[in-house]
Amino acid sequence: MRSHLLNGTTTERYRRSVTEGIERVAARIAATERPFTGVTADDLAPALDRIDLDRPLHDTSAALDELEELYLRDAVYFHHPRYLAHLNCPVVIPAVVGEAVLSAVNSSLDTWDQSAGGTLIERRLIDWTAGRIGFGPAADGVFTSGGTQSNLQALLLAREEAKPAAPAGLRVFASEASHFSVRKSATLLGLGDDAVVSVPVDRDRRMHTVALARELERCAAEGLTPMAVVATAGTTDFGSIDPLPEIAELCDRYRTWMHVDAAYGCGLLVSRKNRDRIRGIERADSVTVDYHKSFFQPVSSSAVLVRDSATLRHATYHAEYLNPRRMVRERVPNQVDKSLQTTRRFDALKLWMTLRVMGADGVGGLFDEVCDLAHEGWRLLAADPRFDVVVEPQLSTLVFRCVPDSVTDPAEIDRANLYARKALFASGDAVVAGTKVDGRHYLKFTLLNPETTVDDITAVLDLIAGHAEQYLGASLDRAC
Ligand SMILES: *Cc1c(COP(=O)(O)O)cnc(C)c1O
Repeated sequence: MRSHLLNGTTTERYRRSVTEGIERVAARIAATERPFTGVTADDLAPALDRIDLDRPLHDTSAALDELEELYLRDAVYFHHPRYLAHLNCPVVIPAVVGEAVLSAVNSSLDTWDQSAGGTLIERRLIDWTAGRIGFGPAADGVFTSGGTQSNLQALLLAREEAKPAAPAGLRVFASEASHFSVRKSATLLGLGDDAVVSVPVDRDRRMHTVALARELERCAAEGLTPMAVVATAGTTDFGSIDPLPEIAELCDRYRTWMHVDAAYGCGLLVSRKNRDRIRGIERADSVTVDYHKSFFQPVSSSAVLVRDSATLRHATYHAEYLNPRRMVRERVPNQVDKSLQTTRRFDALKLWMTLRVMGADGVGGLFDEVCDLAHEGWRLLAADPRFDVVVEPQLSTLVFRCVPDSVTDPAEIDRANLYARKALFASGDAVVAGTKVDGRHYLKFTLLNPETTVDDITAVLDLIAGHAEQYLGASLDRAC
C-alpha cells in the first residue's frame, strides 16, 4: 500500500496515474457534444449502489473505467457553449495546472510553517486585488472557500465593529435581489430573524437608495443600530449593480459598515472596457470577490478584502500548537490569524498561474466578451415577440420567459416555462436556469463562456420555444 503514497520513490507512479486521469478527462471533453446527457438520479443510482467500497480495485485504470460510467460520461460540462445555467465558468488551463500543483504539494495556508512561499503568493494576490479595488495601503484580506464564506466573514467583522450594541438591535440592509448568504450569515451570527432589512429595488433591479435612506432613518429613529449595508455588485439573477457611490454616502452619514458583495461583478476589476460600472467599490469597508465566477477559476477560489487590516483581528484566535501569540511579535506571517478556516487550500495558486500566464487584461477581455454577448442576447430577446425579457444586462445574465400569444393565464405561462426548462435539461441539448420574478416563473441564461455565440443563443431560444409550445399544445389538447 505504501506505493500509493506520493514521495521520492513513487514519482513514476504519480506521473503515470495523474496523466491517465488527465487523458480520460481530455478524451471526454473532446468527445462531448452536449453539456449534459439528461441522465436522472434514478438512472445512475443503481450503478452506484452496486459499488462495494470495502472491495477496492487496486488499479487506477480500473477505477477510472468505473468512474467513466458513474460520473464522467454523464457529468454536467460547464465548458460546453450551451451550458447557460448557473454562475459556473469554463476554467482556464493555467489555473488547472495550478490545481494539479497545489493538490500534490498540498500546502496548507493556515501557517507559514505549512506553506512558506504559498503564504507570500496568497498575500501578493490579496494586495493585488485590493489595489484593483482601489483600497489604500492599510487594506488586507484572505482567500476563502467562496462568496458565502466571504460574506459571513465580512458581516462578522461588521458585527464586532458595531459592538457594544446588543446583537438583537443590529440591522443589516441588503436589497431584495441580494444573495441569500446574507440572511444565512445573519442567522449564524446570532442576529435574530428581523436583522436583515430587505430594501426594494428599482426597475433595473438595483437597490433603491431613497428606500435605503428611509430604512436607515427608521432604524435610527427606533433606537436600533445599523450594522452594515450590503451592496451587491452583480446580483446573482440579474447581474445588476447597486449604486455604490450613493450607498457609500449613506454609509458615511449613518456611520455604517459598507460591504460590497462583488462575488459575480468582480470580473469588472480586470475589465479595461467596463471597470467604471463598479465605481465606488473603493469606498467599501469590505468586499467579496469570487474568482471562481468571473475570473475563469476552478471551484473554489474566493476572497474577502477589507479596507482596514485592523478589522481582521476579530477573526484572530491563538493556539499554542499552531499560531501562538508570540509569533505575531516575531512577525511570522500566519494567515490563520485572518481566516475563519484553519487547514486551508492553496487556491491562490490557480489565480497566480492565471495572471502569470495570461495576465489580468487577458482575463478581463474574456469577461468583457460574455458581457457583450449578453447584450446581443438582450437585443434578440427584446425584439422577439415569443419572449419577455426583464432587464438590460449590466453583466452577463438574461432573465426572460416564453410568452406564447395563444395563452393569457399567467399560471399556464408559468407551467409552460417550467416545463420547457425541464424538457431542455432532460434532452441535454442545453442547460438553462430558472428563477422567480415578481412571483412568476422565469428562465435565466448566465453567460460565462466566451465560446458561446449568438447562434447558440438563438438556437437555445428556439429549443425553449419549441418545448413550451409542445407543452401548451398537449395541455390544450387535454383541455379539449
Ligand atoms: C454566488 C454568489 C454568492 C455565493 O458565493 P459562493 O461562492 O457560491 O459561496 C454570494 N453573492 C453573490 C452575489 C453571488 O452571486
